[in-house]
Amino acid sequence: MGLTGAYLMQVRILGCSGTIAKGCRTTSFLLGQHILVDAGTGVGELTLEEMQRVDHVFLTHSHLDHIAALPLLLDAVGARRTRPLQVHALPATLAALRAHVFNDVIWPDFTRIPTPQAPFVQLLPLGVGDVFVAAGTLLEVLPARHSVPAVGYAARGSKGWWVYSGDTEGQEPAFWRRVNALHGEQGGVAALCIETAFSNAEAELARKSRHLSPAALARELAALAPGADFPIYITHAKPRESRLIMREVQALEHGTLRLIDLQTVDALRV
Ligand SMILES: [Zn+2]
Ligand SMILES: [Zn+2]
Repeated sequence: MGLTGAYLMQVRILGCSGTIAKGCRTTSFLLGQHILVDAGTGVGELTLEEMQRVDHVFLTHSHLDHIAALPLLLDAVGARRTRPLQVHALPATLAALRAHVFNDVIWPDFTRIPTPQAPFVQLLPLGVGDVFVAAGTLLEVLPARHSVPAVGYAARGSKGWWVYSGDTEGQEPAFWRRVNALHGEQGGVAALCIETAFSNAEAELARKSRHLSPAALARELAALAPGADFPIYITHAKPRESRLIMREVQALEHGTLRLIDLQTVDALRV
């Protein structure tokens, strides 16, 4: 186990699409070899061996596009693992998983299978502001506002912080205060991944579903402190309009502001 932030951390982009289509997988990031942030259909990019090495899953919220592969991941490798997979999320997110997924109707209750003493999965509550060291990686839980209880995450690599907004609309100023504070630390923010799920033509739908459109993204980015010079990666675009969304997003570029389509990236190294 290494010192937190001492090593270059690879963030593999397993999925960063708003929904599925050939070549499009929903949200999941692999940090190093042992941590997943969200468990959307992108998890299907991993081999059995890679899935088996995942010890921690940090979820942003309960929506299907962020949890769809979690029950299947447990089915695929639960019996091959020697200890429970640790799933970290807000209490409301865990309650949703218990009630609607691991309920012995949609999927077996793997929190009690094969035995309550040694189950395939443990559901562990977290809260905004919590700091973890998981598999040698330092992570912090960031505030987020969405249509269900939600969080974002920051994870520390040797270059700086990788920050992920999760799904969001009308971010709490607290999110940007924390991003600006992290960027003030040594190394600062190395990369920010933020969603833009809808185009400007669908801004109303975006607002109702508590997602960002490019115009709303511009209002969010206004909260960045001057001197924020790190690359910003756009995630969660709906495949049918991802090109349009990126055209509208990239029209916002000015000065040092760089806005990059996360779908063009296999992995970030921070
Ligand atoms: Zn969502
Ligand atoms: Zn989503």
